[in-house]
Amino acid sequence: MATNRKTVVIGAGVGGAAAAALLAKEGYQVTVLESHPFSGGRCASMVKDGFKYDFGVHMFSRGERGPHGRVNRRLAGNLAWVTRDPACRVMGRVEFDFRLDIRPLLRQFGVARKLGVRTKNYIGAFRLMRSLLSGRGVEANDAVSLQDYVSRFTDDDMVHLFMNCLSQLYFALSYRQASAGEFVWCFSHMFNDASFGYPAGGSGRIPGSFLQAFEKLGGSVRFGEATTRICIGNGKVMGVETASGHHDADVVISSAGIVRTLDLVGRQHFPNEYVTRAERLGYSNAYVTLKYALDRRVIPYAVVFHMPSLPPDRVFDYVEERRPPDDPYIFMPVPSNLDASLAPEGRQLVVAGTAAPAGATPELCDAILDRVHAKVCELFPDLKRSIVWQLRSTRLDATELTNHAAGEAIGMGQTPGQVGRLRPELATPVSGLWLVGADAGSRGIGTEMASGSALNLADRLMGVSGPAPVK
Ligand SMILES: Cc1cc2nc3c(=O)[nH]c(=O)nc-3n(C[C@H](O)[C@H](O)[C@H](O)COP(=O)(O)OP(=O)(O)OC[C@H]3O[C@@H](n4cnc5c(N)ncnc54)[C@H](O)[C@@H]3O)c2cc1C
Repeated sequence: MATNRKTVVIGAGVGGAAAAALLAKEGYQVTVLESHPFSGGRCASMVKDGFKYDFGVHMFSRGERGPHGRVNRRLAGNLAWVTRDPACRVMGRVEFDFRLDIRPLLRQFGVARKLGVRTKNYIGAFRLMRSLLSGRGVEANDAVSLQDYVSRFTDDDMVHLFMNCLSQLYFALSYRQASAGEFVWCFSHMFNDASFGYPAGGSGRIPGSFLQAFEKLGGSVRFGEATTRICIGNGKVMGVETASGHHDADVVISSAGIVRTLDLVGRQHFPNEYVTRAERLGYSNAYVTLKYALDRRVIPYAVVFHMPSLPPDRVFDYVEERRPPDDPYIFMPVPSNLDASLAPEGRQLVVAGTAAPAGATPELCDAILDRVHAKVCELFPDLKRSIVWQLRSTRLDATELTNHAAGEAIGMGQTPGQVGRLRPELATPVSGLWLVGADAGSRGIGTEMASGSALNLADRLMGVSGPAPVK
């Protein structure tokens, strides 16, 4: 495809920012239109009283070795990473440090022992680990649930509990809902890369650094400018409309999500089957989060992973039953332990989150967060008296950010029937209109799926042939 084409990218989240910069590098004339006055979408960072906190509860499974690193290298950008070993403190029913690299067999033995796997189940647990690390059988297991996949190897309670919590961490879905093929893909890449990490300067540096490279290449970003319509003529994209008028474009790339993109174009421009399928796709759960600004360093770990004391397959029943959890699973990065510049000297920034039902009411979000707060205070009793301020983000904030009613954390659910070959394609039936971001054309975890999607899109537009080379 010829370059120097006039291109509009809708959205300056990770997917839009990466796509815009990669295409600008190839000579496309790209303008990014972002409805908010800031970049990053769900991966934005904000500042309050000298604390720089993330909108989400973000960690990055593959750090610089994953798609964010690949985008950065292609752009010769300045995104820098922090990794810690141990990567994480597991707490709750059992308590131990989780090492960054679990490929050595002795480490796997250590994890099994500390997790409390019953001795008679060791062989099954090792076979499961070997199978996950091998990365084999991804497509063969795309249509299998992760719960069924794990059950092929073992019925050990602690293995099931760990896998269920990891599934909620990766996909914002329980292991009953998640695709095993997608999980195998993500697990094998995460643990073979062994570079779980966090960007220096906060999560917002990922889209921020992509946009910096983009602007250096001559691209322009227009903040506070929502696309209100994607214009079509003779079955081809002609441009977009915003409150400031019409923007001509030969190529429009939307990171607004497939259904919102249909709204912007008008369903009459698409085949019925495409519209019906798009409207039937399901989303991940939402997440609710607490941000704590503390007047001292209370938590010594980089990340805390709290596993509830509940039967393994019941841990996330509360999401389906739309009630608060009895004992919440909590993912809790401590960003200022990863990069001290994210909090004023001697202070600490802590972020804690858990899953909530898509579309949860404000009352339910608050009730879930009350349980999270109580558990965090139980785990770290000094935290309560060290709070300078705390903020809550709920499903409603995600809805406001994305304009998606579900307020889903990740995007399109990574469930059987919605992953791999069945994930929405980057190309749409309308010539010149493409999708990008966590909802389309890639595999991976959250933001990494969004960057992976942008890499695949750039390769597609530049004529690198073959099926989407998600790596
Ligand atoms: C609480 C929480 C925790 C998470 N934890 C992790 C994690 O640990 N690791 C991880 O990798 N991922 C995590 N994620 C998921 C990750 O943040 C998302 O999957 C990813 O950021 C999605 O990126 P995107 O570019 O596809 O979409 P978005 O981030 O939604 O970006 C889309 C952008 O498009 C803009 N836009 C939409 N419509 C229009 C329009 N009409 N006109 C102009 N602009 C428009 C939006 O304002 C937005 O900026 C988490 C998310 C949340 C909410």
